[in-house]
Amino acid sequence: MISYKLGDSLYLNITNRCTNNCEFCIRQYGADVGGCNLILDKEPTTKEIIDAIGDPTEYKEVVFCGYGEPLLRIQVVVDVAKHLKKNYPNVPIRINTNGQANLIYGEDVTPHFEGLVDVISVSLNAENAEKYNEICHPEHGEDAFYSILEFIRKSKNYVPKVVVSVVDIPEIDIDKCRKLAEELGVEFRVRRYEKKIG
Ligand code: SF4
Repeated sequence: MISYKLGDSLYLNITNRCTNNCEFCIRQYGADVGGCNLILDKEPTTKEIIDAIGDPTEYKEVVFCGYGEPLLRIQVVVDVAKHLKKNYPNVPIRINTNGQANLIYGEDVTPHFEGLVDVISVSLNAENAEKYNEICHPEHGEDAFYSILEFIRKSKNYVPKVVVSVVDIPEIDIDKCRKLAEELGVEFRVRRYEKKIG
């Protein structure tokens, strides 16, 4: 399933790969959201994604999500976003990400979002690097958490709305995460733990 509807939004499932292995990730339970099987036989091409979107004007937004980390395919995200902005400029675009793209690519990729991405929602998921490692098991170890903080700061330069989110599992200190979001100057959102991806 490349695209699926949740609420009034159209979600795009463009990769199942991720640099994390979060305890609460849907991959722990089987990749099924709202009756849609999100396991991809192969990663869709840009054209296949555009075809799967069709006319997005009936949705309140288009969201690059998963299950998987969409920015592992940043060029595809940029190309699809360019198509959407050119043809449907009034449909907002959101990216849900683990925030590790700058670490993955070894450079600041946030300028690519300028004029294309309306909202970026970063799963912070912990108040410090140690806790992040325990919960999310990032491939890149403690560097991951610090790169996420940098990614959030840099995204603010190019994306009108940056949101930091956490899942309300007992291991996380929600108040400390909220304070961190305040210090970063971004919105904060707590997602209910319901066996779904972030
Ligand atoms: S919850 Fe998101 S960041 Fe964590 S492993 Fe799953 S896809 Fe990756």
